[in-house]
Amino acid sequence: MIIVKKINDIKKLLGATAGKDVKRGFVPTMGALHAGHISLIKQARVDAGLVICSIFVNPTQFNDPKDFEKYPVTADADIYLLEQAGCDILFMPPVEEMYPAGSKKIHFDLGFIETVLEGKYRPGHFQGVCQVVHRLLDIVMPDKLYLGQKDFQQCMVIKKMAGMYFPSLQVIVCATQRESSGLAMSSRNQRLSDQQKQQAVTIFTTLQYIKTHIQPGALTDIQQTAWHFLETSGFSVDYVAIAAANSLNPLDNWDGQEKIVALIAAFLGEVRLIDNITINY
Ligand code: AMP
Repeated sequence: MIIVKKINDIKKLLGATAGKDVKRGFVPTMGALHAGHISLIKQARVDAGLVICSIFVNPTQFNDPKDFEKYPVTADADIYLLEQAGCDILFMPPVEEMYPAGSKKIHFDLGFIETVLEGKYRPGHFQGVCQVVHRLLDIVMPDKLYLGQKDFQQCMVIKKMAGMYFPSLQVIVCATQRESSGLAMSSRNQRLSDQQKQQAVTIFTTLQYIKTHIQPGALTDIQQTAWHFLETSGFSVDYVAIAAANSLNPLDNWDGQEKIVALIAAFLGEVRLIDNITINY
């Protein structure tokens, strides 16, 4: 695996395959890699001739400065995991390379999707995500982009941005990888104590409860029950939402036919966790 820090260097490297029939598969990450990230690399390895991963903890997507400061960094372990998974190029730019002084920010017209759920609770977050992913796509120019369903809303946002700026890009959403307990793998789990990791499983069991018990009709009761499960397990809940899977329009009522998604965001101590489950999908 070749490790590159400068934009000019990765462009030169990629230039060597330009014009040849080598498909580029790209996995953008913020590092502190786990088996969830690696599942995306492995899928890219199957589909693409050249697999590129980026590690960049993007300051513009953190609305909480403490969350940014405490974001785990495990570069040596990340490099080892990527090499084992068959990644070809790792792009690890410093902040000043991605955001040189005076660089202009695009405002992305994301519409409704950035006003709800993560967009509502983390103002500016999705503009920051689009800012960095747009820059990375512009540098790497991949054919295929691999994202995790764990960040359901982020997948929708990036698909929308890509549709506007990179219409030929294929976006591939990969299944959420979980611990054997059901806890969705996340870099932020490293900040949980062993006891908190056990408590955190309640997010998944609550999502499963919703999936198993949901009935056509009013959804208020099931959402309240889910909220109660989480609070009694020690979470401070941002939202428990049931929404249309293709738009993220929140639903109070379900016709039993529509494809929907249940989504949870909740704090355990200082650590904010998110997860989701699709229903009737
Ligand atoms: P992050 O490093 O958290 O920005 O995540 C980088 C990519 O990995 C995003 O597309 C995430 O959705 C994806 N990802 C994170 N956790 C998981 C997981 N548990 N399973 C599958 N993909 C994941």
